[in-house]
Amino acid sequence: MIASAETILSVAIPSPLRRMFDYLPPAECHQTPETGMRVQVTFGRRKVIGIIEAIKHGTDCPPEKLKRAESLQESYSLLSDDIMKLCRWTASYYHYSLGETLSQALPKALRQGKPASQGTVTNWQSTTELDTELRTSLKRARKQLAALEWLQLYPEGVSEPELREAGFSKSILSQLEKKRLIQSQQIEITDRPFHEFKNNIRQPHLTLNEEQRFALDEITDTSTFNSVLLDGITGSGKTEVYLQAIAATLEAGKQALVLVPEIGLTPQTVRRFRRRFAVPVVCLHSGLSDGERLQGWLSASRENAGVLIATRSGIFTPLPKLGLIIVDEEHDTSYKQQDTLRYNARDLAIYRAKLSDCPVILGSATPSLETLSNAQSGKYLHLKLRHRAGNAKPPVIELLDLRQQALKEGFAHSLIEPMQSHLQRGEQVMVFLNRRGYAPSLICHDCGEVSDCPHCDAHLTLHRQPAHMHCHHCDYQVAIPWSCSKCNGRRLQPSGQGTERCEQTLEQLFPNFPVIRIDRDSTRRKNALTEILDTINEGKPSILLGTQMLAKGHHFPNVTLVTILNADSGLFSADFRGLEKTGQLIMQVSGRAGRGDKPGKVIIQTYNPQNPALQLLASNDYPKFAAKLLTERQQLNLPPIGHLALFRAESATAADGINLLKLLRATAEQMRGEGSTTRTLGPLPAPMEKRQGRYRYQLMVHSLRRSELHQLLNVLVQQLESIKLPRALRWNLDVDPQDMS
Ligand code: ADP
Ligand code: ZN
Repeated sequence: MIASAETILSVAIPSPLRRMFDYLPPAECHQTPETGMRVQVTFGRRKVIGIIEAIKHGTDCPPEKLKRAESLQESYSLLSDDIMKLCRWTASYYHYSLGETLSQALPKALRQGKPASQGTVTNWQSTTELDTELRTSLKRARKQLAALEWLQLYPEGVSEPELREAGFSKSILSQLEKKRLIQSQQIEITDRPFHEFKNNIRQPHLTLNEEQRFALDEITDTSTFNSVLLDGITGSGKTEVYLQAIAATLEAGKQALVLVPEIGLTPQTVRRFRRRFAVPVVCLHSGLSDGERLQGWLSASRENAGVLIATRSGIFTPLPKLGLIIVDEEHDTSYKQQDTLRYNARDLAIYRAKLSDCPVILGSATPSLETLSNAQSGKYLHLKLRHRAGNAKPPVIELLDLRQQALKEGFAHSLIEPMQSHLQRGEQVMVFLNRRGYAPSLICHDCGEVSDCPHCDAHLTLHRQPAHMHCHHCDYQVAIPWSCSKCNGRRLQPSGQGTERCEQTLEQLFPNFPVIRIDRDSTRRKNALTEILDTINEGKPSILLGTQMLAKGHHFPNVTLVTILNADSGLFSADFRGLEKTGQLIMQVSGRAGRGDKPGKVIIQTYNPQNPALQLLASNDYPKFAAKLLTERQQLNLPPIGHLALFRAESATAADGINLLKLLRATAEQMRGEGSTTRTLGPLPAPMEKRQGRYRYQLMVHSLRRSELHQLLNVLVQQLESIKLPRALRWNLDVDPQDMS
């Protein structure tokens, strides 16, 4: 390294290259550059935004090549020390470029070089008091009344994004504005710190039951680093424990970070948090505009937000006073990013809590085997809630043997009867079918040919609303064919059941009750899901038919019967995590039954009623189910006992990918010293070998020791970077892969 008279900026640049780049500080710079600042530099021919990763006093870069940075974007470190550390750790653990990692940590607006200023926001206030007369006049306009009630809670007004999150659309606000019941103002977003609010709590807490009280005491016992698994059955009041733990955190002048799988699906959760706390509760998720995301991010990093509720990427948001992290539904696979930087936000949450020396709570009714095994080994404190909160009782689960049963479009007679009686009692029935569209395939009755996607190894799904064929893997869409592409036969028949077809069947079977379909297609339109959820929450007897969107965290008190049309497909998955995921899904769906005062029942249709795993689930014994799976993983040294990484190669020809992976395997073999526990498996075709017109191959790397695995991955990634790849060959590395496809 050559010593330099001037300081040198070591800059992380959003490029796949796993290294830093040196620059001289900008000319005429009045600020002192610091780690964590954004800096604009010329990189190749482009001007890019990088992050100062370190300040140095020397460089390896020859003087004639050393360029000056263009400008500093701000006068302070935008990314705090702990976020820099978190990103360094993330980049090294997932063997990814630090420049890209830091770039992903920023909201898009900041990535693009926009100024870090919050700007203004539309703030809505009620202009009147909501008296009985006004209530009566708005009786027909339920939504408007609800919005007005909401605004009554906040004399200082509510920002438009918050109102939208609470489920009130722009048109509802305009209607109220026309009636002069509310008014809006553009206001500067305040930088008022959350701890200046006098009362943290707006609404009183519920009185905890014994289990909840014990859990809360244990959690709040220490304010230093501590990982807690809150293992509570569905409806046991985990959220109430979170709320009270957050209140204690706010009371201590600290901020709380709550990670959730998907915010859009459960607007009630956000409402519940906002109702409870008087300090600003900010949300960050993909449904926001770039400007809104920037505002939320800044609000959190400037200590204006007391609570941040966010999806996966929220783990990278600076919170200077972070005092508690909660990962709700910690088993949910959406915490794992499935492309580019393949991180798991749940795992990063543990590391971040360590950095901030604060507690972290992983909550779930169906904890992942990873987390359970950490709890068993004593790494995590294991707190259990085994009873439902309030008056609710756990649902009774029944397996319905489909063998030799008369079926009507997938419904057994002995399923239709109980559905009818629950509906007639004025209750709601949920039907779970994890397949959208009309039918999963279209088959020629003459020659047996099935309509396939031209780009993937997959059938095309038949949709009727609107009518078309759709590949759910690459989004390819085409008109429904009139005749078979192979034999020209005209008798093309839908095969199997999707939600659209099931909706049709249910409408025929239960003509007197509305069928509400909830899947990605029926909720595509803006606000559609919120409207559907509101209808369900009115509690009128109806059938709620849906995919796994229905399984996630909803609280519908009038649902007393849940039916799972077919549990079998998930029981025999090729993926070693398949059964774990299926079990979690079944327990989560079942957990929607009987959450109110009325008891709940679950009926699962199956051709395999003797299946031991299914029987454990039916006896409502997730812990035993999980223990059984864990024993199997132990026998096979699969995660969480052994550790996995997956190299994937995608290319226009199969040979390119296979050759690359073979090269890696050869290196891995060479590297293997005595006593090494690392093994490779492959190259093997991915479960879906061809997708979007590209051939996909995998090399699995397995080791009993994490450190050994990472040593090898380091070598292999360096090798990959040093070779010139054929055109159109892409590779990626997935550490701790969740999805093996
Ligand atoms: P979970 O997050 O475990 O699914 P929730 O916190 O949503 O459970 O609680 C389920 C229901 O029970 C909610 O309607 C909630 O208001 C209610 N509840 C939670 N704790 C209590 C309590 N201690 N007393 C009465 N009702 C409670
Ligand atoms: Zn396709």
